[in-house]
Amino acid sequence: MILIPYDSKLWTIYKGAYGNMCEDVKIVMGDVVNIPSQSKPDRLDMEESDDYEIAYENLWANLLHQADFYEAAYIVMPYIVKLLEKNEGDFDRLFSIISNVGLCLATDIPYYTRRIDKSALDSYDSVFKSYENAISIIREKTKDFINNYFDEIKAKDSDEKWMFSLSAMAILLDRETAYELYMTDWEEGCIRIKCDKCGYDDENNYFDDESFLKSITPAPLVQWDGINYDNTYAWFGSFLRDLEVEEADLVPCLYGIYTCPECGEKKMIIDFMKSELSD
Ligand SMILES: [Zn+2]
Repeated sequence: MILIPYDSKLWTIYKGAYGNMCEDVKIVMGDVVNIPSQSKPDRLDMEESDDYEIAYENLWANLLHQADFYEAAYIVMPYIVKLLEKNEGDFDRLFSIISNVGLCLATDIPYYTRRIDKSALDSYDSVFKSYENAISIIREKTKDFINNYFDEIKAKDSDEKWMFSLSAMAILLDRETAYELYMTDWEEGCIRIKCDKCGYDDENNYFDDESFLKSITPAPLVQWDGINYDNTYAWFGSFLRDLEVEEADLVPCLYGIYTCPECGEKKMIIDFMKSELSD
């Protein structure tokens, strides 16, 4: 994992939604050089703390704008590892960092990344390798965070728990599922069923519609074994139930089998939902 130096030209190549992210990263990492160290207060005063929060918000706005993927993630992710380490013991900050990282990784899917022109990105191979290494470290740190702070996570409000669960899904298991669930408007609750085989495409399916529900064979409840992260369904269902997230009830339907009304193709609802990502 490489921390790209702040004076590297790569910051002008690997951009976020609003351009060069170097300054915001520098502030968030506490590496702003124009504050002479002898005059640095022991505790940040109010104004500086505000500057910090603005840079922290900018950092995520740059990576998450309109739920798209930005190449800056490739050089920023190793700094995120350091940020997690710097904030060890600070539950709220870690919760926020992990929630945002997950949202960012949910957009690191071929649907977005296939348009990236790698030949135009300097040092792509080494930068990408460093990014992948950073993600493996973040994955382990996320597991530790969940183990160490389960009760604190459970005490968060329902929306925050649901979003955190999707972030954990993106970091630990399945980015495309996390992406689809982030993008679904759960107030409206409409599910887009798109069949790759015959082209059937219907956006008006609702989990509170009896006839739609009846057409799904729900997946049987399975308890996660606490070890195997390959079993996405078992992990996700158990995680949401243990956290007492309302959406836990939806999981057997999301992973339930649905039959395409046009061609008879059978697969999981979540896979019909993901079909739009192959457009
Ligand atoms: Zn079909």
